[in-house]
Amino acid sequence: MAKIIDGKAVSAAVKHRVKEECDRLKAKGVTPGLAVVIVGDDPASRVYVNNKKKACELVGFHSEEYALPEQTTQEELLDLVDKLNADKKIHGILVQLPLPKHLDDKAVIAHIDPNKDVDAFHAENVGKIMIGEYSFLPCTPAGVMELLASENIEVEGKSCVVIGRSNIVGKPMAMLLLHKNGTVTIAHSRTKNLKEICLGADIIVAAVGIPKFLKGDMVKDGAVVIDVGMDRDENGKLCGDVDFAEVEPKASYITPVPGGVGPMTIAMLMQNTLTAAKNSINEG
Ligand code: NAP
Repeated sequence: MAKIIDGKAVSAAVKHRVKEECDRLKAKGVTPGLAVVIVGDDPASRVYVNNKKKACELVGFHSEEYALPEQTTQEELLDLVDKLNADKKIHGILVQLPLPKHLDDKAVIAHIDPNKDVDAFHAENVGKIMIGEYSFLPCTPAGVMELLASENIEVEGKSCVVIGRSNIVGKPMAMLLLHKNGTVTIAHSRTKNLKEICLGADIIVAAVGIPKFLKGDMVKDGAVVIDVGMDRDENGKLCGDVDFAEVEPKASYITPVPGGVGPMTIAMLMQNTLTAAKNSINEG
């Protein structure tokens, strides 16, 4: 039986830590500020944006929300980013993805001041992660590292398999495990012998986007299994990329969905915004 890693509790602890630091910064006259920009009315994006706003209130940040209509042009969006880049009250800028199809998300991300890029998607920040000299880490992989640390799970020397190679989860996840001296394999849709590769893993991070993809017979006894997936099962119920019922009896540690990696992402966004505010007064 696995120990279930409680993402809600770890997330609450991170937010508590951020709040304490925020109070300290406020006493010095700096209130961390986050601007969230949403274009269009995608219901899932709306939920994420509301959660971010609530988290800002909880930790004591200043927050601004810009809800732009679906037909917003690229130029209008870039103008807003320019304005936020120059705004001293704002330390972090988050443009909620995905953007409507007529907008170029790469160009928008490239336009954000890298010092305010609290999602860590800007090429400059991605490059810094590569060389291990970063201010911000992308929120979801950073949240996974925080979960591992919360249970004192050692990465050094471990065989780690990351399933998925997206720019926002899989690739940075692999890099963070590598920085902790794990021996990392990145698997993807063209990987052959995935089952054998996973069976050799001490730590598996599943970021595939396919419900219950990782089965019990792909996991060795005692493996640590982290489920990044946010999927819907055949009944429309939220589930992860890991078949929890099959894998949990074999794993030593496992994250549930919901209540595992999900709550960490917003907590790490708060952490990044705090870091940006500290950096703005050279306290980073
Ligand atoms: P993505 O961009 O769709 O990437 C999925 C990755 O899985 C791709 O690299 C793909 O390989 C790989 N893959 C697909 N089928 C596979 C297969 N049969 N075998 C092995 N690899 C396979 O997804 P993402 O943005 O990384 O997100 C992954 C999951 O995490 C989703 O469920 C998403 O909702 C969730 N997520 C959760 C959070 C959170 O806060 N908890 C944040 C972000 C994402 P190719 O590259 O070869 O296509």
